[in-house]
Amino acid sequence: MLRSVILAASRSSQVERLVATAPFTRDVVRRFVAGAATDDALRATRDLVDNGLAVTLDNLGEDTVTPEQAIATRDEYLKLLKMLGGAGLTPAAEVSVKLSALGQMFDEQLAYDNARAICTAADAAGTTVTLDMEDHTTTDSTLEVLGKLRKDFPSTGAVLQAYLRRTESDCRELASAGSRVRLCKGAYKEPESVAYQSAREVDKSYVRCMNVLMSGDGYPMLATHDPRMIAIGEDRARWFDRGPERFEFQMLYGIRPEEQARLAGEGYTVRTYVPYGDEWYGYLMRRLAERPANLVFFGRALISKK
Ligand SMILES: Cc1cc2nc3c(=O)[nH]c(=O)nc-3n(C[C@H](O)[C@H](O)[C@H](O)COP(=O)(O)OP(=O)(O)OC[C@H]3O[C@@H](n4cnc5c(N)ncnc54)[C@H](O)[C@@H]3O)c2cc1C
Repeated sequence: MLRSVILAASRSSQVERLVATAPFTRDVVRRFVAGAATDDALRATRDLVDNGLAVTLDNLGEDTVTPEQAIATRDEYLKLLKMLGGAGLTPAAEVSVKLSALGQMFDEQLAYDNARAICTAADAAGTTVTLDMEDHTTTDSTLEVLGKLRKDFPSTGAVLQAYLRRTESDCRELASAGSRVRLCKGAYKEPESVAYQSAREVDKSYVRCMNVLMSGDGYPMLATHDPRMIAIGEDRARWFDRGPERFEFQMLYGIRPEEQARLAGEGYTVRTYVPYGDEWYGYLMRRLAERPANLVFFGRALISKK
């Protein structure tokens, strides 16, 4: 019910105007989105890198339904990567890319070609790309594109979502030498047939997947704000003798910044996921719609920096 209301709101230009002009919204957007322009993304990246954090940048885009939109997204990433390289912000900063923004929904080959162009630009700039994971209907296609990209760009990062029942097995597949894998809980509304539904089941799966990745040969990227998962991650790092060059923590821009600083201060590699672009309305609303519990998530983040 709540989800339908939020989804309806996300499509309403009237609600968008209302939300966009509300004073509270500006604070929310500023807190969670680096800004609208490429320069804003660079500025936020510089601040974070100066504070000892690594960064992954996400250019926000609405649902891509035409080749022109897909090409425009690709071109924005090419521009961003050139600027990051020129500013000396690589390899500390890399980029996160959604294949759907590159045309995956209507032309998989186009999405692959665009992703390949971005990987080529990232390589030239001395950094890497991580392919974000979207809803479960795209998992196979995204992993297939990942496999093809990794032939020429072996450091291309994957994302696996612990709420999917298949993920422990995907972790085993991907925990090979040099394989960068971001493990997150998962942000989409998924049916019981493919995904664990309770927080407890998702947490247990997260720990099992973390065990596979941390004991494997790849490079795990533990994306979570959950204090329990972070503590278990620290424990596994000690147990498997993984130093800061062999795994990292990741958190979203604006969420638990003090915890990000604490972990970096303790010598861990911590990467902040920084969204930027003017399509913030759809981004925030979709986050809420995919998982209404994110209302609490964003609300808590606004009152707490820890
Ligand atoms: C870097 C990064 C990249 C991601 N990429 C993807 C992706 O490609 N695909 C995808 O589906 N999802 C992605 N996600 C989203 C992810 O799947 C989760 O939806 C999101 O991170 C919330 O899960 P959580 O592990 O942080 O813990 P939650 O289950 O949301 O929270 C667990 C606990 O964490 C603590 N906590 C959380 N937030 C706060 C706060 N603000 N202040 C204090 N305590 C807090 C609380 O104790 C809370 O009970 C990504 C997340 C990150 C961090």
